[in-house]
Amino acid sequence: MATLTTPALTLEQETNPWEAQASRFDFAAKKLNLDQGIWKLLRYPTREIIVHIPVQMDDGSIEVFTGYRVQHSIARGPAKGGIRYAPDVSLDEVRALASWMTWKCAVVNIPFGGAKGGVICDPKKMSQGELERMTRRYTASIIDFIGPEKDVPAPDMNTNEQTMAWIMDTYSMHMGQTSTAVVTGKPVNMGGSRGRREATGRGISVVCDEALKHLGMSIEGCRVILQGFGNVGSNAANILYRKGYTIIGITEYDGAVYNADGIDIPALIEHRARAGTINGFAKAVPADKDEILTRECEILIPAATENVITSRNAADLRCRILCEGANGPTTVLADEILAEKGVFVIPDILANAGGVTTSYFEWVQDRMGYFWTESEVNQRLDTIMSESFKDVVSYGTAHQVNNRIAAYMLAIDRVAFTTKQRGVYA
Ligand code: NAD
Repeated sequence: MATLTTPALTLEQETNPWEAQASRFDFAAKKLNLDQGIWKLLRYPTREIIVHIPVQMDDGSIEVFTGYRVQHSIARGPAKGGIRYAPDVSLDEVRALASWMTWKCAVVNIPFGGAKGGVICDPKKMSQGELERMTRRYTASIIDFIGPEKDVPAPDMNTNEQTMAWIMDTYSMHMGQTSTAVVTGKPVNMGGSRGRREATGRGISVVCDEALKHLGMSIEGCRVILQGFGNVGSNAANILYRKGYTIIGITEYDGAVYNADGIDIPALIEHRARAGTINGFAKAVPADKDEILTRECEILIPAATENVITSRNAADLRCRILCEGANGPTTVLADEILAEKGVFVIPDILANAGGVTTSYFEWVQDRMGYFWTESEVNQRLDTIMSESFKDVVSYGTAHQVNNRIAAYMLAIDRVAFTTKQRGVYA
């Protein structure tokens, strides 16, 4: 198998998400023999918006937050991607995430381009009122660039259904009409899709099922460790648990829990809702939050944030399958180490595409004004995820590349084809 050969990187370069995205893009584009002009066009985002958002805080003072919205591509449809709130949001991170959205939508073959947004803030230290005012002002600042046919935001880290409701309402107030299709991941009573909340976790469970089949392994005795117990991690854990996987470890930013016989996930979800943390869960033992990632398991699922598997810990991993629930959890250097170890990687742009796929269903339902049952949504999602898994794996086999490069190549090929067909407007 061909792997991505990289020049020596500094730690800062290794963990820069934009550099990681760009080097994988370059490698895949070269393998595809991509036309130089299209290469340049697809390598960089189409539009980058930076806004400074004044917000009146609860104590009467005014704080100014910096926000971004980056649209990487609109070649295959409206730009699509989440909005995250975190203290360490950066333009390079949002750029990378926007590009990944383009490739992700193309991997699962849905008619969207890619975008991402972020606001530098610490939501843990903000009240609901402050978050609402910041969200509404951020929406107003980017309002000319979003819309059901332009760019459709969704939740990401530290944003949720409530955030989407505020964005939808602010946009609708400006337009003078209720426009539900401007965002996805909304509450079900205001145009959200059934199954959206669990969709990313559900998609992860489908690709895990497919990977086991592909590798001749079985669910029985399949041990799973997850990092992150938020939307993606907790739903993935819960669905895998219901399917009969044995979840032996969960790690969060403030601690980890471990039980070699399997963790009762519904009980852990209840405990976290009550205690506000996974720590102190009686039916498991505490563990070190970083070391636990290197314990023996069949499937490791990073579902928290970027740069978790790096050149510093990749060699220590003892999983057979790495299923990337988070975006960009593995660095380029770590990829090479994992390839040498024979770890089967299900890359982020495939593994966590269940969220955007059901967002696509939500957008379709909003535009029709007709809503599907949860089982209809789930069935359609399962079909797309398992077909996409097979597409990526067979593309990799045919082109003698690993799963990640196969996913990039498949996606770039699709976006380049449409871009060429549309032509360059000058
Ligand atoms: P979230 O905010 O709901 O959950 C993230 C969880 O990870 C939180 O519980 C947080 O405490 C924990 N966490 C943060 N840093 C950590 C660390 N260093 N170690 C352990 N735990 C840590 O966010 P989410 O929506 O679940 O997103 C998680 C990841 O999945 C992100 O990379 C996001 O871009 C990606 N993703 C999300 C969706 C979606 O539908 N929500 C879809 C595709 C990809």
